[in-house]
Amino acid sequence: MASIRRPARGPARQASARLRAGVPLAAAAVAAAALLAAAAPAEAERVVCGDRLCTEVPGGYAGWKKAWFPQAAPAAGERAEAPEAGERAEAPAERAAPVRMDSGAAWAAAVHGAGRGHTMTELADGVYHYYDGAYSSLVVVSPEGVLVTDPAHDARAAELKKAVAGIADAPVTRIVLTHEHYDHAGGTSSFEGAEVICHENCIDMFRMDPFGTAPQKVDTEFDEFMEIDVGGIAVELHYMGPADGHAATVIYLPEERIVATADLYLPRALIPGAWQEDVNFVGKHRVLGEVATWDIRHAVNAHSPGTDPEDLRENARFMADLYEEVRGRILEARELGVDGYFEALLRMPQEIELEEYSDWEGYEEHLPRHVDRMIYSMAWSTCGLPGCDPFHGR
Ligand SMILES: [Zn+2]
Repeated sequence: MASIRRPARGPARQASARLRAGVPLAAAAVAAAALLAAAAPAEAERVVCGDRLCTEVPGGYAGWKKAWFPQAAPAAGERAEAPEAGERAEAPAERAAPVRMDSGAAWAAAVHGAGRGHTMTELADGVYHYYDGAYSSLVVVSPEGVLVTDPAHDARAAELKKAVAGIADAPVTRIVLTHEHYDHAGGTSSFEGAEVICHENCIDMFRMDPFGTAPQKVDTEFDEFMEIDVGGIAVELHYMGPADGHAATVIYLPEERIVATADLYLPRALIPGAWQEDVNFVGKHRVLGEVATWDIRHAVNAHSPGTDPEDLRENARFMADLYEEVRGRILEARELGVDGYFEALLRMPQEIELEEYSDWEGYEEHLPRHVDRMIYSMAWSTCGLPGCDPFHGR
C-alpha cells in the first residue's frame, strides 16, 4: 500500500550502499561486480525480445536523432554548413527569430514513435526501460503486480501492455504519471483497475483537459514525497517544484540507483523550442542540478533512447551555464534604465551564445527559445531579484 511521508533524498541513500561493500568477502566481491557493472552500464544491459513486439529502434541514437531533428538536414536553398565561430556574434540580426512551430516530422515522431517498434531493456532485477522511439516508460515488475510510468496515449498503452505481458506474469497494477502534460497522461484506462498515481497538481490540470485523454480519476496524489513498495523494490517519487509543468516528478529507485525524469532533457540535444512553453527554466535548472548530484547508474528520461546518467549531468551543466549567463545579463541590463532594460531583454535570445554546446543537436535553431524561457522564468518582474529597486531615480 502506498504511504506518504517526508523526503529522504537520493544522496542520503548512498551511505548504506557504500557500507555494504565493506563487509564479508563474498558480499564485497558482489559489490565490486556491481560497481564494475555500474561503471559500464551499457554492457550490463540486456535487450529483452518477445515473440511479437520486440524490435530495435532502427539506427539507435542516429535513428533517434534523424526522427527528432529532421531539420538537421538542410532544406533546399538553406546553408548546409555550420557557420564559422564568431559569425553569429558579429551578425545577430541575421539569426532567425525563435519560431513558433518546429518540424511536423518531429511532432509526429514524438506522438507515434515514428512506427519504430520498441525496446524493453532490463536495467536491474525487475526494472526495465521501455522505449518506442518517442516516449519512455519505466517498468517495475513484481509477482504481485507491475508498475509502469506514462502510458502516454491509448495506442501506446496497448503496445506497452502487450510488452509487459512478455516479461511479467502479473498485470499492471500501478501507473505513475511523471507530470500532468496530457501527452503523457493518456492511455491509463487500458490498464483496468490499476491505481493511477500523480502529484497533486495534476488534479486541476486533468479537470481542464480539453480532449478527455487524461485520467478520469487520480487514485493517489502526493505532495512532496511518496514511497511505493513494488514487491520489495522501493520506488520513490520526489516533487521539487515546477519544472516541466507543475507536477514534474522525479522517480528514484535507491537500491538500483535508477532515476526517471520527464521532459527535462535530451541527450546532447536541445529540446525543440515549441515544447518549452510550459517549462519553468529556473525550476528545471534546480531539479537537474539536484538530481545530478545523486548516485545514479541509469537515468531514464521520458523521450531519450538511452539511460546514460552522463546525459543528465551534461544537461544539468548546460542549464547551470544558461542560468548564470542570463542572470548576469539581466543584472547588467538593470543598469540601463527602464527602456534599456526591456530592450536588452528582447535582444538577449538573439545575442546569447553558449559555445561549449554548439555541437549539440538543435543548438542553432532552439537556443534562442531556451534563452527566452530562462529570461521569463527569472525576470518577469523588474524586481525579480532580492532587494531590487532598479530604476528608482533614473
Ligand atoms: Zn511535458
